[in-house]
Amino acid sequence: MTDSNSSNRLASGYQKLMEFLHEKPQIDHALERLSEWEELTREEVDKIGDYLKRDLRDAAHFINDNGKELKDWLKFDLDLVEGAIGDTFSTMVDETRLTLDKIEHEASRVGEWHTGEIVGIGTFECKSCGELLHFHKPGHMPPCPKCRGTKYRRITTQDSE
Ligand SMILES: [Zn+2]
Repeated sequence: MTDSNSSNRLASGYQKLMEFLHEKPQIDHALERLSEWEELTREEVDKIGDYLKRDLRDAAHFINDNGKELKDWLKFDLDLVEGAIGDTFSTMVDETRLTLDKIEHEASRVGEWHTGEIVGIGTFECKSCGELLHFHKPGHMPPCPKCRGTKYRRITTQDSE
């Protein structure tokens, strides 16, 4: 179990990372700046980087595979995303789309998200009861508000067609 202080730090770290990326859309550079941010350990910075890359790859694969848009992946309009995060994320996804390979693709398909993990933006469904959670800004995955379940899958407009 992740303690809640650490979860909060990771979630603010993810938001901070998006601010750095807004200024300069280059992940390694942004992570370097994040590691100078006093509130985080190096391990936490690495973790946040992994969470971001996971989100970016998932979105990039979705768009490449289905010929759809970011709003379909989010399952809500990009305008609902707080601040400049939507634009920044969109830029990063475009870059990620150019560098995807097939092996990675297979690996990302088995995606499951768990309570306590940090997610950027998007819509998730509880695997036990089907409850939907919408993230309009980065945050940590809570236990399901309905059934206290801890496993989720990301859903897109593709899932409701
Ligand atoms: Zn549930």
